[in-house]
Amino acid sequence: MVQVSLQGISEPYLISENSQLRETFQIHSLREDDISLLSGHRSADAVASVYAGHQFGGYTPRLGDGRAALIGGLEDRDQRIWEVQLKGSGMTPFSRMGDGRAVLRSSVREYLMSENMAGLGIPTTRALAITGSDDVVIREARETAAMVTRVARSFLRFGHYQFFFHTNQHEELKALIDFTLEQYFPDCLNQAEPIAALFTEVVQRTARLIAAWQAQGWCHGVMNTDNFSILGDTIDYGPFGFMDRFDPAFICNHSDDYGRYAYDQQPKIGLWNLVQLGNCLTPWVAVETLQRAVDGYNDCYQRSYMALMAQKLGVAELAEDQRESLTIGWLELLGRGQMDYHFSFTGLTQAELHERKPDVRNHTLDLAGFDAWWQQYSDALKGTSATSRRQQMHSHNPYLVLRNWVAQEAIEAAEKKDFTLINALLPALQQPFQEYPELASYAQLPPDWSKSLAVSCSS
Ligand code: AMP
Ligand code: MG
Ligand code: MG
Repeated sequence: MVQVSLQGISEPYLISENSQLRETFQIHSLREDDISLLSGHRSADAVASVYAGHQFGGYTPRLGDGRAALIGGLEDRDQRIWEVQLKGSGMTPFSRMGDGRAVLRSSVREYLMSENMAGLGIPTTRALAITGSDDVVIREARETAAMVTRVARSFLRFGHYQFFFHTNQHEELKALIDFTLEQYFPDCLNQAEPIAALFTEVVQRTARLIAAWQAQGWCHGVMNTDNFSILGDTIDYGPFGFMDRFDPAFICNHSDDYGRYAYDQQPKIGLWNLVQLGNCLTPWVAVETLQRAVDGYNDCYQRSYMALMAQKLGVAELAEDQRESLTIGWLELLGRGQMDYHFSFTGLTQAELHERKPDVRNHTLDLAGFDAWWQQYSDALKGTSATSRRQQMHSHNPYLVLRNWVAQEAIEAAEKKDFTLINALLPALQQPFQEYPELASYAQLPPDWSKSLAVSCSS
């Protein structure tokens, strides 16, 4: 950690504040003073931390908070402390070639997506506010600067542990591990081998996290080890994306030429990252013990994923083999029939089991496949209650998700200083299982203009 002086953005304005999260911290409203604080003008003791990480499979020995700084903590209702960071607050000793800034475009994406993630019930860093400025920031084009205030119980990443291990600073690493145990994993301290227990817990949390991403058709885009949280939170919102049409080979990051982080690769990349973390624990834990923890990953992933899919399909009450066969059949159908991942589930939720040709059937190119699967599905559900099926489905299939094109509309309006769409989307994304008739035009397939949208690492 090093102390840094922030470089605030000029003449900042508030773009959006997250009132749901404000309430969590019992902050009543943001005043002028706070806006100045949240745009990098008032923090005397900000710090940035060093980390390392495997980026696209290759090890980079020195990374760090290159454009983010920790400015303090906030206490929630349960007296738990959350760390508060400003992202885009200027250069630090870890900025490498970067300018320490974040553009409005990527800040709006992070702000809305992290809150949508929380609304979907998926562990994530959160975002308290976003401020903007007319300061010019150069990326592929001229853009303007913004700053996201993001909060998390901890911003510790796998890369923090890797940094100390690979520089042979084992004492410092042990101190970091002890801190992690005391602060965030106190239950592990009661185990015979606390560090092994910690690793097992991180393995399981990561498996469950990625299962949840997969179930919601979400791609992270840059699953480098420095972008993996020790708490199992989703962290680092860059070129992420929800799939539209179901495609297991979907790549959301335009800069990911070889598809290392394609949708169907995410579960095994999670495991690969855990192996890198486990490696850093070898001074204290036997390799066999670490291996046993890692061996539990696939099973935990598979169980979590299948449980979520069963709820999305409303078949949680059926026997395991039936649930799995319906899930696999459904995914094959989505792929072959070129169906939209999200609307296929909401369409299925609306379908009545006694209908022979529900509406959702009109959206598949594989009619025969649909009819066969629908028959199997309705037969399997004959004995179960329609209400219970609907309830499971309603609480697992979002009405609104932040598709790229929706984020793009919010960004383009914000670039013209119109923040109404951001502020209208925010509460809906935070409670995405409800219906919002006033936002119906955003719960739509991507329009033609958006087909050329490409998101890359540039942010
Ligand atoms: P990411 O690809 O977002 O995980 O970022 C990789 C590394 O580059 C991290 O250490 C970031 O802090 C740093 N970084 C990314 N963008 C910038 C920027 N504009 N200025 C300084 N550092 C940056
Ligand atoms: Mg990062
Ligand atoms: Mg990033």
